Amino acid sequence: MAFEGLSSRLQNVFGKLRGKGKVSEDDVNEAMREVRLALLEADVNFKVVKDFIAKVKEQAVGAEVMKSFTPGMVVVDIVNKELTALMGGTQSKLAKANKPPTVILMAGLQGAGKTTSTAKLAKLLLKDKHKPLMIAGDIYRPAAIKQLQVLGEQIGVPVFTLGDQTSPVDIARAGLQHAKDNGHDYVIIDTAGRLHIDEALMEEIRQIHDVTKPDEVLLVVDAMTGQEAVNVAQSFHSQLELTGVILTKLDGDTRGGAALSVKAVTGCPIKFAATGEKIEPLEPFHPERMASRILG
Ligand code: GDP
Repeated sequence: MAFEGLSSRLQNVFGKLRGKGKVSEDDVNEAMREVRLALLEADVNFKVVKDFIAKVKEQAVGAEVMKSFTPGMVVVDIVNKELTALMGGTQSKLAKANKPPTVILMAGLQGAGKTTSTAKLAKLLLKDKHKPLMIAGDIYRPAAIKQLQVLGEQIGVPVFTLGDQTSPVDIARAGLQHAKDNGHDYVIIDTAGRLHIDEALMEEIRQIHDVTKPDEVLLVVDAMTGQEAVNVAQSFHSQLELTGVILTKLDGDTRGGAALSVKAVTGCPIKFAATGEKIEPLEPFHPERMASRILG
C-alpha cells in the first residue's frame, strides 16, 4: 500500500508524543528529528523536508502548545495542517474554458500512465455529463493509437485520429476543429512521451500547445518514481507552463516522495490521483484527505 512506511513511522512518533501528559521542547525536537528522517526515507525532496520541519517547529515549540492540556495532539494537528498545505491546501479543480471546448493537454514520460489517465479523465467527464473527445496525438509509440481507441470504445468516448503518418501538431489542430464541429465540450490530447526528456519532444508539445491553446496542461507523473518524478515535473514546467499534475500508480507501494514534493518544488497543484490499471473515473486529489491518510 502507498505511504505504508511513512505512515507507520509517523504514527509511531506521534503515538509516543500523544501519550505524554507534559511535552517538553526536547520531546518536540526529538519528534521532529524522527519526522525529518521518515520524510527523507520516503524520498521527499531535501529542501522540502527542511522547510517543512522549520515551519512545524516554529509553531510547535512555543509556550502556548506546551501549556495546552494535550500538547501531543496539538503538535499532530500542526503537522497535519502543514502536510495538507504542502500538498496544495485545498483541492484544485479542473479549469473550464469560457467558451467550450475546454482543451486539456496531457504531457509526461512514456510509461507514466498518460494514455490510461486520458481515458480515466474522459470517464470522469462523462460521469459529470460532459461530452469529451480524446485526440490520439502519440504517433510514435507502437499501438498507442490502438490502445486509446480500445479504451475509448470501452468507456464510450470517441477518439480522433489521423493515423501515425500525420504530424501530431496537425492532428491536434484537426481534432480541435472536429470537436468544435461536433459539439464536444472537452478535448483531451494524448501526446507522445519519451523515456527521457528530450528537446524534440519538448518542441513538438510546445507546438501543439501553440496551436491548441490549452486551458489545462496536465503532467502525468508516476508516483512510484519518487523524487525523480519531481525532477521530471520541474523540467516540463520550465519548458511548458503546467497547470496541474496527475499522480499515477498511487495503488503501488510508493513511498510518498512525489506526492509530498511536487507542489512545493514546482508550484503546480496535484489535481488528480490515479490508482489501478482498470479504467475508473480519475479521482480529484484532496490534500487534506491524503494528509489524514498518511497520519493515520
Ligand atoms: P503512457 O506511456 O504514459 O501512455 O502510459 P500508459 O497509459 O500506457 O501506462 C503504462 C502502464 O502503466 C500500463 O501498463 C498501465 O496499465 C499502467 N498504469 C497506468 N496508470 C496506472 C495506475 O494508476 N496504477 C497502476 N497500477 N498502473 C497504471
